[in-house]
Amino acid sequence: MRFVSTRGGAAPATLSQAIAAGLAPDGGLYVPESMPKVGHLPRDGYLATTASRMLAPFFAGDPLASELDAICAEAFVAPAPRRELRIKGAHLLELFHGPTAAFKDFGARFLAACLGRLRRDEARPLTILVATSGDTGAAVGAAFHEMPGVRVAILYPDNRVSPRQAHQLGSFGGNVRALRVEGTFDDCQRLVKGALGDPALQADVPMSSANSISLGRLLPQMAYFGHAALQATQPMNTIIPTGNLGNAVACLWARAIGLPIGEVVFACNANETLPEFYAGQPYRARDAVATIANAMDVGAPSNFERLRHLFGDEDAARRQGRAERVDDAQIRDTIRRHAANDGEVFCPHTATAIHVFERLRFEDPTKDWTMASTAHPAKFDTIVEPLVGRRVEVPDALAVMLARSASAEAMAADGRIFADWLRGW
Ligand SMILES: *Cc1c(COP(=O)(O)O)cnc(C)c1O
Repeated sequence: MRFVSTRGGAAPATLSQAIAAGLAPDGGLYVPESMPKVGHLPRDGYLATTASRMLAPFFAGDPLASELDAICAEAFVAPAPRRELRIKGAHLLELFHGPTAAFKDFGARFLAACLGRLRRDEARPLTILVATSGDTGAAVGAAFHEMPGVRVAILYPDNRVSPRQAHQLGSFGGNVRALRVEGTFDDCQRLVKGALGDPALQADVPMSSANSISLGRLLPQMAYFGHAALQATQPMNTIIPTGNLGNAVACLWARAIGLPIGEVVFACNANETLPEFYAGQPYRARDAVATIANAMDVGAPSNFERLRHLFGDEDAARRQGRAERVDDAQIRDTIRRHAANDGEVFCPHTATAIHVFERLRFEDPTKDWTMASTAHPAKFDTIVEPLVGRRVEVPDALAVMLARSASAEAMAADGRIFADWLRGW
């Protein structure tokens, strides 16, 4: 299997090359040259086994192919259960049982397992740079923590992530260092892009990124949708809380290779780039607006190029999908109502999907849906607890991380200072 750029201006790459590179040289995103078809998969397999079977065609012919089973065993340690809710017609696909209590753990651990192997024989360490508004940095830090040959710099905007998120980001130590940047998330991203694009700095300090456009994060996300769909009795209609479209594209890829997935609907917050597009307007990226589902505060979804590529063009993509906008008041109302009525406590991101479910169920009361639950509500305690009127229990893995001491270094939003810091590490 070879991988091509969504922009068509880069030479086809092997899987290992595509994973190591992150972005294609023409600025596009790597996608499989063609979608393979998987054969019959058992309904009751382990998640790691199903993952390995689903991903085998993408690894065919690559040096990592012989290690795919081991990579999946490392990445899929947490379960991803699909359970029936006490709400008629609704299942929840829980993706938050990993070390940082959000679905990004799966992709980050898979990428780490791949990169660790690709870097095995390199003399100098690889420095992974990650700009984060919260969840990504923690997942990447946890996945690479104490891995030989790799170190991680997490950049986050000082005073703009939740207290628990800040604690998580600073709790690793060793080969993972947290930088609290005097600025916004965009400043963090600018520092990362500037460093990665500086050839002199790259020569001194070999660097890579771990953001959501990386194929090494996207491919494994297909697995839990496939695994869940195999357990459903009918093609699994799915609603996905959506920001950069990483999870959503992974679900569509799983359907494209033959897994029994039905309709796929994107639940968005007040950032309406996708809802507007699906309502018939031309695609128009814009600045993000802040909401209480902050991991979905995206105005220019980076995986849109992959979506368009999958369907061929924008009209075809629009005809075969749907996106719904949910504002903060609706998110709050959904969290409050379900805690009171059926004892289910949702994180703000998951609540967007639950709200969309209620809309769709009103349109067609016979259709069943599975909602992806992207984070544990305890991660967003300052938002959720006042709405539900009680403490939300912290899962064990998250409690372990919060019990560790944490520290972050201050960093000016200045490329030269950041470059000096990297050279001095
Ligand atoms: C990252 C994230 C999302 C958005 O996922 P995308 O793959 O970027 O669409 C949704 N919910 C949570 C909790 C997240 O951390």
